[in-house]
Amino acid sequence: VTERIIVHADMDAFYAAVEQLDDPSLRGKPVLVGGTGNRGVVSTASYEARPFGVHSAMPMVEARRKCPQAIVLPPNFERYTEISRRIMDVFGTYSPLVEPLSLDEAFIDMTGAEGLFGPPRQMALGIKRDVLEATGGLTVSVGVATCKFVAKVASDHEKPDGLVIVEPGEEREFLWPLPVKRLWGVGPKAEERLRELGLETIGDVARASVQHLERKLGSLGLHIHALAHARDMRDVIPERDARSVGAERTLDVDIVGEAAIVPHLRESADRVSRRLRKHGLLAGGVRVKLKTARFKLHTRQGPLRPPTDAYDELLAGAVALLEQFDLRQPMRLVGLAAFDLIGADGRPQQELFPDERRERSRRLDRALDAVHERFGDDAIHRGDIPPKRGDEREE
Ligand SMILES: [Mg+2]
Repeated sequence: VTERIIVHADMDAFYAAVEQLDDPSLRGKPVLVGGTGNRGVVSTASYEARPFGVHSAMPMVEARRKCPQAIVLPPNFERYTEISRRIMDVFGTYSPLVEPLSLDEAFIDMTGAEGLFGPPRQMALGIKRDVLEATGGLTVSVGVATCKFVAKVASDHEKPDGLVIVEPGEEREFLWPLPVKRLWGVGPKAEERLRELGLETIGDVARASVQHLERKLGSLGLHIHALAHARDMRDVIPERDARSVGAERTLDVDIVGEAAIVPHLRESADRVSRRLRKHGLLAGGVRVKLKTARFKLHTRQGPLRPPTDAYDELLAGAVALLEQFDLRQPMRLVGLAAFDLIGADGRPQQELFPDERRERSRRLDRALDAVHERFGDDAIHRGDIPPKRGDEREE
C-alpha cells in the first residue's frame, strides 16, 4: 500500500493579516478583527496582539483590556472571500482533491503527485510560495502527513509561516508529547475528564487500554485512542461549488495553443449555456480550467456583466481569459464553468435599450434548445463546435 500524502494548509491570522496587507500602517501592530460592540468577540488577533494573552473567541471587551493599544476592526467578509478564492485556486493547481474547511484552510490530497511536484517538502514549499505570490504577501502554514488528523496538527505546530512534515512511521513520535487537547473531539470538558484519569499527553491516551477508555468515555474513548495511534482513514472530500455549472473534457491527444483550445470552449459553452437556460439561471462569472499534459491544473475566472445565459457571451468571456494562461504548454483537459448564478426571480431588470445583437443570439439559443428538447442532443450542432471525442464530464 502506498502511503497517502495529505496536506493541511492554514493561513496565519487570516482576517488580521488581510487587514495588515491592505493597510500598511497596520503592519507590525496589534490588530483585532471581530465584533466591535460591547458583546463582540475576537475573530482573529494578529500575532502582535497574542503576547498580550489575546486570542480568538475571547470577548472583545476583555481583549481590549488586555491590549489597550490594539486596533480593533470589524470583519470585511467580502474581501476575505475574495482572497480566499485566490488561495483555493492555488490549492487547486496542486490537486483536484481540495477540501476547504473554512475561508482560510483546506486539506489537499497529493497522493501520487510526487512525480509532478517532488517530495512532500517541495510540495509544501511550492504551496507556500504560490500563496504568498497570489495574495501579494500572506503566509500560510503547511503540514504534511499520511492522514488528515496528523496533517492538521502539523500545520499548527510551527505557526506562523510553518512547514512541518511528519514522515510515514514517525506519527507517534510527533504526536505523543503533545497535550490531549490537540486530539479532535477533545474540548475543555473532555480535557478535564482525561486529566482526572491521569491522561495528560496524546502518548498517555495511546498507551491506555482501549477498553478502559471506552468504559470511561464511551465512543469518544475509541475515537481518541485511534487518533493517538494516527489511525485516521478519512478521505479528502473535494467540495465542488454547487452554485456553478460546468462542462469539461479530457482529450485523447494533447493540444497546444489558442486555436486548438477555442473549439473545445465552444463545445463547453454550448452545453453550459443550455443547462443555464434549462434551469432558468443567469451566470455572473465564467471560469476556464486547463490541465497541462503534466497534470498541472490552472484556472482563471472573470465577471460577466450583465449576467447572462447566452452561448456567445459565455464563450467570449472564456476566450478573453485565455490570455492569462501560458498557452505554450500542451493541454490535456479543457473546461468551462459558469458561476455566481442567479435565479429567475433574481433576474436583473431588462436593459433600457436592449442590445439587438444580444437578443438575436438569445433567440438562436432558444431555438436550438427547442430542437434538442424534441430530438435529442445529437439532432443539430452548432457549425463551430467540433464533434465529440474523449471523456466528458459535467459538474
Ligand atoms: Mg487560519
